[in-house]
Amino acid sequence: MPSRRDFLKTSMLAAGALAAPRFAAATAVPSKGALPGAEGARVISTWDFGVPANRAAWTVLARGGNALDAVEQGAQVPESDLANHSVGKGGYPDRDGHVTLDASIMDGDGRCGAVACLENIAHPIRVARRVMEATPHVLLVGDGALQFAREQGFHEENLLTPEAEKAWHEWLRSAKHRPVANSENADYHRSLRGGHDNHDTIGMLAVDAHGHLAGACTTSGMAWKMHGRVGDSPIIGAGLYVDGEVGGATSTGVGEEVIRNAGSFLVVELMRQGRSPQEACEEAVRRIVKKRPDGAKEMQVGFLALRRDGAVGAHAIQRGFTYAVCDATKQDGLFASPSVYATSFS
Ligand code: ASP
Repeated sequence: MPSRRDFLKTSMLAAGALAAPRFAAATAVPSKGALPGAEGARVISTWDFGVPANRAAWTVLARGGNALDAVEQGAQVPESDLANHSVGKGGYPDRDGHVTLDASIMDGDGRCGAVACLENIAHPIRVARRVMEATPHVLLVGDGALQFAREQGFHEENLLTPEAEKAWHEWLRSAKHRPVANSENADYHRSLRGGHDNHDTIGMLAVDAHGHLAGACTTSGMAWKMHGRVGDSPIIGAGLYVDGEVGGATSTGVGEEVIRNAGSFLVVELMRQGRSPQEACEEAVRRIVKKRPDGAKEMQVGFLALRRDGAVGAHAIQRGFTYAVCDATKQDGLFASPSVYATSFS
């Protein structure tokens, strides 16, 4: 029977075969430079900002730490990045000027926690983990989530940075608070995404050296959304799903479409039935496109999957979805996901 290390090698080749690396291997650290505890561990994340997030997760995995701690650690990097306008502090607000954050965390043993529409707390992923570990619940929302965060000692702060506020005021000039519900309108989606950048949700999946799996997902959601709107990221089975017997999946893009299709759960179930991570992501994207053949041409959804043996898959509707891969052989791998269409909203 092949070892987990062999699986990793094979899957790295598979990942390389399905997508061209965007970064040169110049800064790769050879496996012999890694601590023994890192053997067999791997962490993957959505988008370019997954690279520094993976590095933070790797500090945990490299010393033999567990996948849950690693993803919690890694997800906090984009949450802290004020230049990132779609995750954590610095995220673009909703149409009423509130920065509302969604996050979820899941362990391979089925434990999970999430917060949605949480304001004033810079690290929703940490609150999500507390929901998982300190309550009998899975999901806390809005004022209740904030109340819980306060009780747990989290510091409250204004998450609306001057830059994000300026962008909101600019958006208000043309949009005038108009609620837009047509998810088949490309201009709408560009405006939801801030109109000019490709920042999105961070979804992170890790397998540690002990073969344990975990995942995390955190976002400020779509810019200029209606107040109270919750996307896929904090919905277990939509934006994130992990099953230690199979693997994990996470998503980015138009959350409504992912929720409608229970996207991440679907990817994991397809892997359970024998599809490779790549085939599973492709099928999940296909389902979304099939149900909304016209709308799909003008929206982005991307899935990322990690099988328990370390194999990776990614697929998106539009070009431009990238994902980062980090293991003992290379910490800053960045790949372009294959896609259905060649257009890009990034
Ligand atoms: N999936 C996120 C949401 O719908 C946004 C994104 O990843 O672009 O809130």
